[in-house]
Amino acid sequence: MFIRITKRIFKDLAIYMVFLGVIVGVVFPFFVRLFGVPASIAYQPLFFCACIAAGILLATLNITLARNVVGSRIRELSSQMKHVEGILSSQMTGEQCEKCTPESCSIRVDSEDELGDSAASFNRLIQTLSTVLGAQQDLQRFSEMLTSNLEMDVLANEILHYLLGVTQASGGAILTEEGAELNVEASYAIDMERTMLNSTVLHYAVEKQERRVVRLPEDIVLEGVLTKYRPKELLIEPIVYKQIVVGIIMLADVEAFSNDTLDKLNSYAPILSMAFNNAITHQRMQRLAALDALTGIYNRRFGSNRLQEEFGRAVRIGSSLSLIMLDIDHFKTVNDTYGHMVGDKLIVLITKIISDAIREGDVLIRYGGEEFLCVLPGASQQDAQFMAERIRIQVRDSILKNNEQEIRVTVSLGTSTYPNKDIDNIQQLINLSDEAMYNAKKSGRDRVASA
Ligand code: GH3
Ligand code: MG
Ligand code: MG
Repeated sequence: MFIRITKRIFKDLAIYMVFLGVIVGVVFPFFVRLFGVPASIAYQPLFFCACIAAGILLATLNITLARNVVGSRIRELSSQMKHVEGILSSQMTGEQCEKCTPESCSIRVDSEDELGDSAASFNRLIQTLSTVLGAQQDLQRFSEMLTSNLEMDVLANEILHYLLGVTQASGGAILTEEGAELNVEASYAIDMERTMLNSTVLHYAVEKQERRVVRLPEDIVLEGVLTKYRPKELLIEPIVYKQIVVGIIMLADVEAFSNDTLDKLNSYAPILSMAFNNAITHQRMQRLAALDALTGIYNRRFGSNRLQEEFGRAVRIGSSLSLIMLDIDHFKTVNDTYGHMVGDKLIVLITKIISDAIREGDVLIRYGGEEFLCVLPGASQQDAQFMAERIRIQVRDSILKNNEQEIRVTVSLGTSTYPNKDIDNIQQLINLSDEAMYNAKKSGRDRVASA
């Protein structure tokens, strides 16, 4: 409406007011004539000058008032905005600084006009900004934590405790799916039993790849979830990466889950999906690096590390440790007669026989082409000989069918046992079992020899 003259509003106002004061001063002598003031007085140059001076004085007073009444409020608004801007920008750059609370960042609202409205809008804006910024920082901290962990069990525990913290849920669990099996990677205040892992609700959520919130009526105890509290709701959140369920989050709470909690879970879903996928990929890579491709058992490199660990433990706790070295007899002839493919099948068959024979906790390593090393923690020399003999007989009695042909092989085995006066490192123990195995070969094959 008003044409801007300068870049300052109060300067414009001052110019308009002075201009108005001058006009009033000029018009005033003509105006007083209406009230009978004689022309000899009204049109005197001195009277003109006095009227103009009065107009300018009034304009000056007005502008001073406006500057003090309105200007001070605007200055307060602008200085608080600068203060808030400073806090927010240091928060964004991650600097440690005071947090923007409603007390420290809001502006006094003490008028019911445009200035009051502006202050109130500013306060609401800051409130929203600060909530959004807080959520963004939470998300950043969460994703930093997730990307710094690749081991599934560590990651699952971190995720669970973080989610319990932000959702205030009473208990929860993190599951992963492998094949059709669900594995519990972490749990807190919720006992996952087989019945729960097989529950239709859980499988339905995983199959549909959709969140399920199950309300549990007072008189119904959810089968398999044994908690020290009575949960009101159970939330099942499948985490999906490229249409594949990579993890399942379960949360149980004595209260119903709020929309805020559900929104938070929505915002976490993309980073959770990346984190679970990374951990699964890492797990696979580790398996690939550790396992032999043909037989699926430990390869020599990884097996040697395990062997070293087992030896260290045996020395530490003063227990025994036995090894069985196994080599297939006349394997070259098998390869030459039936071909390499059949040779491979035989290696797989023998792996299965040994795997079935050894106990849980024993380690089987593909030590060379057709050489296997069994590590038997806690086994005495007698135990090892017994085990070796069992394997020898089972191999001898097994038949590999290849089309019409029936292929039989035998194996030679050597055992060695720690403690032994000649042994103070693992390589010596391996050498002893190797020598024993060669003795078995020399003395006619298809037999067990002990060091
Ligand atoms: P011995 O009774 O003295 O052990 O005779 P052998 O013929 O078995 O001799 P040796 O143990 O030295 O033979 C190793 C052979 O195993 C040589 C190689 O062709 C074969 N071999 C090694 N790795 C593989 C494999 O992965 N697949 C197949 N098919 N053959 C393998
Ligand atoms: Mg060999
Ligand atoms: Mg051989």
